[in-house]
Amino acid sequence: MAKSINTNSNNTYSKIKPYRGRFAPSPSGELHFGSLVAALGSYLDAHAHKGKWLVRIEDIDPPREVIGASKSILSTLESFGLCWDDEIVYQSNRHDFYQHHLNELIENGDCYGCDCTRKMIMAGGGLYQSTCSDKSIEQLSSPYSLRFKNINGVSEFTDRLLGNINVDDTFANEDFILKRKDGLYAYQLVVVLDDIDQQINHVVRGSDLLEVTTRQMTLLNRLSAPTIDYLHLPLAVTSSGLKLSKQNHAKALDLTQRKLLILQALDFLGQVIRSDYLDMSLEQLLKHAVVHWNINTIPQQSQILKS
Ligand code: GLU
Repeated sequence: MAKSINTNSNNTYSKIKPYRGRFAPSPSGELHFGSLVAALGSYLDAHAHKGKWLVRIEDIDPPREVIGASKSILSTLESFGLCWDDEIVYQSNRHDFYQHHLNELIENGDCYGCDCTRKMIMAGGGLYQSTCSDKSIEQLSSPYSLRFKNINGVSEFTDRLLGNINVDDTFANEDFILKRKDGLYAYQLVVVLDDIDQQINHVVRGSDLLEVTTRQMTLLNRLSAPTIDYLHLPLAVTSSGLKLSKQNHAKALDLTQRKLLILQALDFLGQVIRSDYLDMSLEQLLKHAVVHWNINTIPQQSQILKS
């Protein structure tokens, strides 16, 4: 039996409850410098607010998963002293929970089936035009996806680092996918259900997720869930501007150089590197970095990673 979701309709939760943040890696590869930056930024922000820092493994997409990556990400985090404050949540264990809440959305008329192909959507300009919104299930060919009937899409929010963020109304109001044709739950659905269930009130992550934050806020609103404060960190990119990732041959972290890597990540995040940091242990360094954490000096732009 799926448990019910924790919601609080007065939307003031993030202001009155203790800070709860998280790092939510997808196990599509080992931790690289870009994900270390996201992990460190979210850890420091949580600790600087005397909050809790949780880790959630977003293993919801088996075709993209690399065997052994979850274990390796967790042991790498631990080796840096980035220790989490609660049990790890694995999305792969939570299908019943996701389906339970998806069923509620279906019962409330917030979802509909769609059998459009990617090619059809691209031919219509790339954003989905609610083509199937009036079709009954009998009119659809299998397989079909489930889309959110998006009535009041959020188109703007204030990011703690980047300030006012606006997305195009057409993007904000697109009926996005909640369950894919291949039967997998969509990231937008599960990230929101888990953030609510884990009572996350602060999200610090890479700015590749800046625009889709509006979709997550739309779903949070629909579920009458408390608001979340967002901070999107600069991305580490390759010289051709691509986000550092396993696919872009991100270099494996040299774990014999952990202190140096933390210093590089702190520098990347615009934090002051004091000369005495070089003499500190990793543990002392993290403690100092928490005390001196300053979001006002974090660069707003992606940065090319020098190799
Ligand atoms: N799992 C996502 C990723 O690894 C991050 C999700 C999030 O922080 O909301 O890119």
